[in-house]
Amino acid sequence: MSTLLELPSVTECTITDCGYHHEDGCHAGAVTIAGAVGDASCATFVPLDAKGGLAKVLAHVGACQRTDCAFNTELECSAPSIRVGAGRDDASHADCLTFTAR
Ligand code: SF4
Repeated sequence: MSTLLELPSVTECTITDCGYHHEDGCHAGAVTIAGAVGDASCATFVPLDAKGGLAKVLAHVGACQRTDCAFNTELECSAPSIRVGAGRDDASHADCLTFTAR
């Protein structure tokens, strides 16, 4: 069982129209990855002009529902870090680009 400090960091996010996105990446305290089979999307994404989140914190993965990902262990992410970016099928989606099918 990991501690909060050991949760994987979101080292990169390129979804600039998200309310949590600042110049250096995602400032949500933690993100949840959800989506359908084969499509791991960031459920914390919110398309807002207003910017929020925690000024001094870069996001970690708080939870991941993608049990079909090789990094998923008991609904948590065990990757060292993840990247979030435009979805391959739909560029308006914020996808976990580190998703790796089992
Ligand atoms: S790498 Fe896999 S387990 Fe980790 S957040 Fe992405 S989809 Fe979830």
